[in-house]
Amino acid sequence: MSGLESLLQKNQQWADNIKQGDPDFFRRLSNQQAPEYLWIGCADSRVPANQIVDMMPGELFVHRNVANVVVHTDFNCLSVLQFAVEVLKVKHVLVVGHYSCGGVRAALTNQGFGLISNWLRHVQDVRDKYQDVLATLPSEQDQLDRLCEFNVVEQVGHVCQNSIVQNAWDRGQPLSVNGFIYDVADGVLRDLGLSINGENERVAIQQRSIDELIARPVRSGRSPR
Ligand code: ZN
Repeated sequence: MSGLESLLQKNQQWADNIKQGDPDFFRRLSNQQAPEYLWIGCADSRVPANQIVDMMPGELFVHRNVANVVVHTDFNCLSVLQFAVEVLKVKHVLVVGHYSCGGVRAALTNQGFGLISNWLRHVQDVRDKYQDVLATLPSEQDQLDRLCEFNVVEQVGHVCQNSIVQNAWDRGQPLSVNGFIYDVADGVLRDLGLSINGENERVAIQQRSIDELIARPVRSGRSPR
């Protein structure tokens, strides 16, 4: 059996299993989606959004790219954000990084992989911003994992600064923007102490998160809230 046939077979089995427990599940979903969360994460195959938080189809709206980067002029990401906030009216945006991210590693170490180097330049901006802090860490692995953490804090800031989110806050729409980091080595999602509910608190919360990160060992994110 080819790899593709096995995919189709696995899908049939998966759909059958769900329908066994809830015969109406897919029919209900076909009428509408009403997710409460927008997940902005890395494209890495080890970080599958729904599985990590044990959510069913319909519960997460998802955008993934290499190194979970939010760029102010990326119309792909912006379109997802706009639809999620203005049409679906999600309540929470989650920016989810992960340790040992290959994209962040390439950015940290100036590895060139062709076109993607231009994309990763955005992560290098984060690296350069925190160069002094990163330089104090003893190993490249620690530098990598800390940069993965800092990258989440910066991208959370980019989501907040975006006109879509700013407009939502201006009209009083409840919307929180949060930063998590996932450890592919233990399967645990860690809270980076970032939960921003309005522009007035953005700078202080981002700074507090950075200060807390610097004060504690790499990979020791807060326990779940
Ligand atoms: Zn990654």
